[in-house]
Amino acid sequence: MVEAALGHRKTISILGATGSVGLSTLDLIRRNRDSFDVVAVTANTNVDELAKLAIEFDAELAVVADELQFTALKQALAGSHIKCASGEDGLLAAAQANAELVMAAIVGSAGLSPTLAAVNRGATIALANKECLVCAGDLFMEQASKSGARILPVDSEHNAIFQVFDFNAERSVEKIILTASGGPFWDRRRDCLKDVTPAQAVKHPNWTMGQKISVDSATLMNKGLEVIEAYHLFPVRVDQIEVVVHPQSVIHSLVQYVDGSVLAQLGSPDMRTPIAYALSWPERMSAPVDRLSLAAIGNLTFAEPDLVSFPCLRLAKEALAEGGAAPLVLNAANEIAVEAFLQGKLGFMDISSLVKATLDKVDMKAPQSLSMVCEYDQEARSLASQLLAKFER
Ligand code: NAD
Ligand code: MG
Repeated sequence: MVEAALGHRKTISILGATGSVGLSTLDLIRRNRDSFDVVAVTANTNVDELAKLAIEFDAELAVVADELQFTALKQALAGSHIKCASGEDGLLAAAQANAELVMAAIVGSAGLSPTLAAVNRGATIALANKECLVCAGDLFMEQASKSGARILPVDSEHNAIFQVFDFNAERSVEKIILTASGGPFWDRRRDCLKDVTPAQAVKHPNWTMGQKISVDSATLMNKGLEVIEAYHLFPVRVDQIEVVVHPQSVIHSLVQYVDGSVLAQLGSPDMRTPIAYALSWPERMSAPVDRLSLAAIGNLTFAEPDLVSFPCLRLAKEALAEGGAAPLVLNAANEIAVEAFLQGKLGFMDISSLVKATLDKVDMKAPQSLSMVCEYDQEARSLASQLLAKFER
């Protein structure tokens, strides 16, 4: 394998360093130590892992979101020069620390405030935390254009589109096509999905990911969130975004042009490829992923998504078309539903029912500021939590 150092050393902070995307990011940095200086790392509660990573990568700042873990973090880092912080202020300090690149890899709307803080100081954002764009896409992209922050998509589909989208000829793009693995149940019908367990739902056939996104992949909500994410990232209309099920996860997404050409990005299903692309952009860096062997794979297959068995994708598309606060409410209700499902309190098919019930109940205008987004997010969460009782097992 050819090893290539980047043209210059980059400073980087990793929000959500202990998660699946965070650890893959650090794995790449570990293999390319000459190209990166780690400034800040954050985690939700896992202090031991956070301290270990902060020491290994010689970070300047380690932040644990859970304030109750602050003392434990200080103890774990005693004797080192690494500064410690906790809570919302700590996350903001990590986002505002002086790093040119910020990997936004917190899961859920909890990542919005810190990621926006990095956007507002004009940092380059490697964006994995798709919920940021679902909750506050207009605000997020507006702030990025004001501050000059560049957003580099890490989500594999959006990273693929970013690689093949001709930004110099936007009007020659007819549509973008997001591929969906379909998750572990894509060929099952509705009546065979009722009794799916959390353990079955998080067992993704192609990708190793955090629990929340794994459940989202199984319900196809992940693809719905990605349609909304794509709408904000790329200059396309809602009706120019299509989804096709592609169970092998080899083609990561496609762009169709007015002349009938369709350009795609392919690769093994390993997040280290899109992460490497975002870390090294506009250059490329080596990534230790399995090389694609098309002859060994033999067949690539495609199917229409089944919106009856997987209503979450339909709900997300409807929320995007409705606009205003609908995508935010969809996301908040989904976060509550997925957590309840993982705790065994909610059935698999009731995830979409709870999201729909919450959307039906809420009447909110489009939020105009971050504080309004946070307020609406809390309101939608508490409503979804109340409605949960109707569906609880
Ligand atoms: P994960 O659950 O493995 O990790 C999440 C990280 O966020 C952890 O470091 C955790 O400590 C931190 N975190 C969780 N809750 C927090 C809170 N309330 N406050 C502060 N920090 C918190 O998740 P993941 O799979 O790495 O996904 C991260 C994001 O990337 C998600 O938005 C996901 O949709 C997106 N994404 C992930 C993948 C993947 O392959 N895992 C692919 C594409 C996109
Ligand atoms: Mg994706």
